[in-house]
Amino acid sequence: MSCIFCKIIDGDIPSYKIYEDQDMIAFLDISQTTKGHTLVVPKKHTRNIYEMDEVLASTIFKKIPMIANAIKKAFNPIGLNIINNNELPLQSVDHFHIHLIPRYHDDTFDIQFQSHQNHYDNSSYLEVLNKIIHHLS
Ligand code: 5GP
Ligand code: ZN
Repeated sequence: MSCIFCKIIDGDIPSYKIYEDQDMIAFLDISQTTKGHTLVVPKKHTRNIYEMDEVLASTIFKKIPMIANAIKKAFNPIGLNIINNNELPLQSVDHFHIHLIPRYHDDTFDIQFQSHQNHYDNSSYLEVLNKIIHHLS
């Protein structure tokens, strides 16, 4: 298995481990984009959100408040971004992971939501909505 996160989970590569249970592990992201940048990772090799089932998703996501609160108490950030990249070119490690990125006044991390609201009217919102609903299962 060439997956770098599987190697971390198996202990073949060292990591700065914050928390571990039978299903998941949380460790410091090597990049430390901001101080305390942490990855939350299922132990089962699952490539991305599209491969997750409800049970695994619940198992992983339910631990995030505990880890987020520990980061908050440790560093008193002004906020916290929770980010998950899926598929190339966004995702550089092909094993599902959630980034917890605490934010500070002087950090250099940037995430912006640009509004395209002026390109949408009622019918175009409904068209988008119905396309998604059609594929819900
Ligand atoms: P992605 O781009 O897939 O959303 O994020 C992958 C993350 O994994 C990056 O932030 C990168 O710094 C981190 N990363 C890559 N290799 C290693 C490693 O060997 N150890 C740790 N702790 N983090 C890693
Ligand atoms: Zn893996």
